[in-house]
Amino acid sequence: MSKKGIAILGATGSIGTQALDVIRAFPNQFEAVVLTCGSNAALLIQQALEFKPKAVVVTDSLQYSYVQDALKGHNIAVLLGEVGLVEVVQYEGVDVVLNAIVGSAGLKPTVKAIQSKKDIALANKETLVVAGELIMALVHEHGVRMLPVDSEHSAIFQCLTGEEHNPIEKIYITASGGPFRGKSRPELRYVTKAQALKHPNWSMGAKITIDSASLMNKGLEVIEAKWLFNLSIDQVDVIVHPQSIVHSLVQFQDGSMKAQMGVPDMKLPIQYALTYPGRFENNFERFNFMDYPTLSFEKADMETFRNLALAYESLRAGGNRSCVLNAANEVVVDAFLKDRVGFLEMSDVIEQTLDQVEFIAAPTLDDYLETDRVARLITKEIIKD
Ligand code: NDP
Ligand code: MG
Repeated sequence: MSKKGIAILGATGSIGTQALDVIRAFPNQFEAVVLTCGSNAALLIQQALEFKPKAVVVTDSLQYSYVQDALKGHNIAVLLGEVGLVEVVQYEGVDVVLNAIVGSAGLKPTVKAIQSKKDIALANKETLVVAGELIMALVHEHGVRMLPVDSEHSAIFQCLTGEEHNPIEKIYITASGGPFRGKSRPELRYVTKAQALKHPNWSMGAKITIDSASLMNKGLEVIEAKWLFNLSIDQVDVIVHPQSIVHSLVQFQDGSMKAQMGVPDMKLPIQYALTYPGRFENNFERFNFMDYPTLSFEKADMETFRNLALAYESLRAGGNRSCVLNAANEVVVDAFLKDRVGFLEMSDVIEQTLDQVEFIAAPTLDDYLETDRVARLITKEIIKD
């Protein structure tokens, strides 16, 4: 059996490094054909020397010659920037593009990968938040698989296996509630980035960790699920489950509910996306009932965590609204991480941006890219960045 060739976009990040752990565990099944980084050139070089991919891409131009020099004589092509990303996803030896880039920068490489008939393992949820309708139309047009890596969506995907002909009544996306679950707005006003970066159950990149604290991550996941599973907005619900053991649930038309469970470890959904429809034996941690005598569920507080409400509103409004929401969020999260805006201000600024960007009912890819650009400028203006 020939090995499955994987292109890991964002190999130096939290998901990217865990994806390499999975590949390392199954050297006869998987091969890292492409690795890419933003600016962490030192780690990319180390990964490239270990995995010997055909090519690496560096998106930070300042790091390019450093990587080129380090990999000289190793028969590894070194490409630069978005142009490089869009080129490597087309390589012949690539069977699956695992997109683990953070933010809307992941959109164009996903589009090109689908057009090149590559299966997608998608961690980069922003791709579907920005342009879900367009992306899923491309997936169907080119007959590729869109395999979710996000744990909630992987859970739903696993629950739906074997149920292809049974309509879904509803899905419940579980949310841990993040570090500020149960807090009131006055208590949230002065929370610091250090507090927001302490997620109770998951260790992840900075942007998604802040999104988890503000519940924007759950909002983005609602949008991601709507497009991925072709649901109406009313079919997508969020339920807070602080233990993060039930990764999400599907309710069918007879009232039966299926849930997927396991310890919170992203390596499992990453592995499933790569082995689907099969499952490979591994030595990941197993669930122990005695560690979790109680699994609890509660309603999500959309009044305190307004980002979740804004995400539902954007989805309901359609067109380029979710693209605006995402762009504004990327800018405010970055500003929050630099101590330039407060925690609660983030939703205010996103809402103001949504009010100011022109509505486009049926955007093309170029419209989405332009919306993303304009929304970022407007958000920066609002926060005087
Ligand atoms: P990280 O910040 O840890 O990693 C992001 C990766 O993308 C890094 O390799 C980074 O490079 C690269 N990168 C950053 N900006 C750009 C850019 N503009 N162009 C190209 N590459 C870039 O993020 P995570 O791994 O946490 O998250 C990645 C994606 O997966 C996100 O969309 C997130 O929402 C999603 N996800 C993550 C989960 C997790 O557990 N971490 C869980 C579910 C979903 P470098 O570091 O070299 O600069
Ligand atoms: Mg998730």
